[in-house]
Amino acid sequence: MNWAIQTKSLSKKYKGIPAVENLNLEVPEGSVFALLGPNGAGKSTILKLIMGLQRPTFGGGFCLGMDILTSGLQIRQKVGYVGEETRFYGYMTVKQIMEFCRGFYQEWDDEMVEHYLDVFKLPFRVKVHELSQGMKNQLALVLALAPRPELLILDEPTTGFDPIKRRIFFGAVLGEMVSRGKTVLMSSHQLLDVERVADRVALIRDGILLKTCSLDELRENEKEIRVVFQKEPPPELFKKPGVSQVHRDGLVYRITITENLEETWQECVSFPHYVIEVINPDLEEIFLRYMEGEK
Ligand code: ATP
Repeated sequence: MNWAIQTKSLSKKYKGIPAVENLNLEVPEGSVFALLGPNGAGKSTILKLIMGLQRPTFGGGFCLGMDILTSGLQIRQKVGYVGEETRFYGYMTVKQIMEFCRGFYQEWDDEMVEHYLDVFKLPFRVKVHELSQGMKNQLALVLALAPRPELLILDEPTTGFDPIKRRIFFGAVLGEMVSRGKTVLMSSHQLLDVERVADRVALIRDGILLKTCSLDELRENEKEIRVVFQKEPPPELFKKPGVSQVHRDGLVYRITITENLEETWQECVSFPHYVIEVINPDLEEIFLRYMEGEK
């Protein structure tokens, strides 16, 4: 497997307080990879460390083969990045900003810029300070796409986007990156959208990587048995390997399974019950389980 990004023990403390701890992250080339985690989990910090915008306290890594400790400038030249805050020279028009930024890159796709300015309905002649925050974020995205980068790193890319623009981003923009075999690493709180487009996810809490896997593996390994028993089941039933969590409401049980589904299912079925079914939780439910610290 070729990695677009690979970090080793990447760590960052702010004033002695850990924001990212011992992160070993591998982002395969050509993937759409989503960093998921609650506010303050460390997602933005990770993206800034990878972009060489911040220096790690410990550890390091490579981004498109470039050392994040020593090659920040080259990384920023090659990678399309939209950070959590977008700042522009507000007195410039959209057109002037485009021309200004164009000068910094060897490659610049004018046709695509025009296409996305049109799709996002960004007015060419309006001054940037007159744009809404959502429009400024769309402008930042178009600027990141224009040099046709091998890798896009986006921090909450759809902040301030209305539902139509969000759909354009998750559909057309990411679709085009995928079809050209490019890599996207992004943080997002839009779990429904992420579930549609991402092929890998990393779940992060308190600066620690809890899990990283493909969405297919996550779906495959995270199941729930919902069962209504006829009488109180024996507690040993829930002490099987692979049972990660049990919720009960009277005789209604929700049993979260990460392995040995068949075995636990058979045990439940053999005990008197009214109804039993296996549920495939969606990404939001899985996310909440991990973030609520139930694992
Ligand atoms: P959100 O989803 O809210 O954007 P996040 O996952 O991106 O959150 P970070 O912005 O990386 O989280 O912050 C991780 C931790 O580091 C938080 O506790 C935050 O308060 C702290 N932090 C981030 N930047 C700084 C800074 N410049 N100085 C001090 N602490 C910081």
